[in-house]
Amino acid sequence: MIRFLLYILLCFFLYLLFKRIFTRRATTQRPHADQRRPTPIQDELVRDPVCGIYCPKRDALMLRIKGETHYFCSEECRRRFLQENAPEKGS
Ligand SMILES: [Zn+2]
Repeated sequence: MIRFLLYILLCFFLYLLFKRIFTRRATTQRPHADQRRPTPIQDELVRDPVCGIYCPKRDALMLRIKGETHYFCSEECRRRFLQENAPEKGS
């Protein structure tokens, strides 16, 4: 009787092992499964206030004005934003 129970336990253990192997193989077959890395900052989208385009934070150009952080898709947008928000010619 005890041997029978051990046999069932062994079968269950083997079943869990096979299940783990099969699920791992299923995840590796997916091409996008490997891109699931713990880097939430890289996937964050920021909005360009000049042209309104959303671009990833890692590619965006950062600019801090009056304690606020702005992100831009290109150097041109950042320059235009600076021209509109920096009244150095008026005074
Ligand atoms: Zn832009």
